[in-house]
Amino acid sequence: MIRFDNSYARMPQGFYARVDPTPVTAPRLLALNGALADRLGMDRDALTVEMLAGNAIPDGAVPLAQAYAGHQFGGFVPQLGDGRAVLLGEIVAPDGARFDIQLKGSGPTPFSRRGDGRAWMGPVLREYVVSEFMAAMGVPTTRALAAVATGDQVWRDQGGLPGAVLTRVAASHIRVGTFQYFAVRDDRARLQALTDHVIARHYPDADGALALLERVVAAQAETIAQWMALGFIHGVMNTDNMAISGETIDYGPCAFMDGYHPQTVFSSIDRQGRYAWANQPDIAVWNLAQFATCLIPLMGEEEAAVEAATKAVHGFAPLYQAAWRRRFGAKLGIDGAAHQALIERLLTLMATERADFTRVFAGLSDGTARDEFTDRAGFDAWSRDWQALSPDQAVIARANPRRIPRNHRIEQAIASAVAGDMAPFERLFQAVTHPRDLHADWADLALPPAPAEAVRQTFCGT
Ligand code: AMP
Ligand code: MG
Repeated sequence: MIRFDNSYARMPQGFYARVDPTPVTAPRLLALNGALADRLGMDRDALTVEMLAGNAIPDGAVPLAQAYAGHQFGGFVPQLGDGRAVLLGEIVAPDGARFDIQLKGSGPTPFSRRGDGRAWMGPVLREYVVSEFMAAMGVPTTRALAAVATGDQVWRDQGGLPGAVLTRVAASHIRVGTFQYFAVRDDRARLQALTDHVIARHYPDADGALALLERVVAAQAETIAQWMALGFIHGVMNTDNMAISGETIDYGPCAFMDGYHPQTVFSSIDRQGRYAWANQPDIAVWNLAQFATCLIPLMGEEEAAVEAATKAVHGFAPLYQAAWRRRFGAKLGIDGAAHQALIERLLTLMATERADFTRVFAGLSDGTARDEFTDRAGFDAWSRDWQALSPDQAVIARANPRRIPRNHRIEQAIASAVAGDMAPFERLFQAVTHPRDLHADWADLALPPAPAEAVRQTFCGT
């Protein structure tokens, strides 16, 4: 049995639409994250395939679709909302932490617009493996509890594809866009109710809207610095995909860089490169400015509120830069604040040759980083200066994954899963959720793609 305690369902009318998942034809378990179930204190036997598919609603669940708005690629959409997901409810883990349990791909809701409310196996498995890798590296993120195949087809540009449902776990699914939904409607009462809810749930020591803004700015600065340090590109940093908890959310067209270049973009819909790797901190600031705009009406006298909110948003840059220096310093086993220029020299060398981001840093542990460069003399010169600082090898080994969920491997695993073979997915999952282990059996998963295997574009999770 799962013990739900649904605080969001107790929010006033207008926060969500009550809607049950739509049953599917022939649910089949693709993956179940037993370690996460244990961490959440969820009885594995209660996680039946019928429940995970949305065919059986567990006792105590109050399924609902959350309302939210959002800026998509800079353009404001006053109503988005959960169009293909339902929040089953919330649970409180043994350590007291509260989590949303959400089914994604569970059928239409009042927010579906023209969408079918479904997901296909590809994006479900991509989110599953990438979010669990992020968790293994200590990046704040939503988690993946289960993936089931529905037995139904969904229709996309590529034709008919096997449907799937992801069970997603989050500290909450409240986004910048949730605030925008009420702000754009001038609904002061609900904005205040949402703010109170979020403070109680995520930032209990914040004493009002301004303090909340400062906390979210700080949380996002840390999260984005961690993305950067892993070569992660989110791909759709719309305000509806930025979580107030600071967790990474919505792994649609996300990807990790193989060869390093700061302007790398994968998403097929990001034609201008708005959400390129190097732009992510600036976009975070832009999104946080939208969040601040929502909160200003709750912050007292307007002129002073605008000034305080602006200052809070400007607080992102120093926090982010400090986090960046700390993260990249750890990747090199040195004090990043004292040696920022050395970090940047290495990145410049890497960008010139599009050296493999993950292999260069992992290779600093075993002397193989040099092999990633054709300009060996350039690397050697840098390396002498680096070695002179006596880098801390234990710190390097912790900060740098040996394996990441590389695009080509994800796509191979999805292709096998579609063909009925989950073994490559399970192997990839094990390898990237133990990302620092030196393990000879997984050596091939640490390799960059051969030219013919390289994936240059990723597609949204629709
Ligand atoms: P995303 O770009 O994935 O963050 O989604 C943006 C909006 O489109 C959200 O409101 C989603 O719920 C909605 N959406 C995406 N895919 C579908 C779908 N297949 N059916 C219904 N709504 C969808
Ligand atoms: Mg989204």
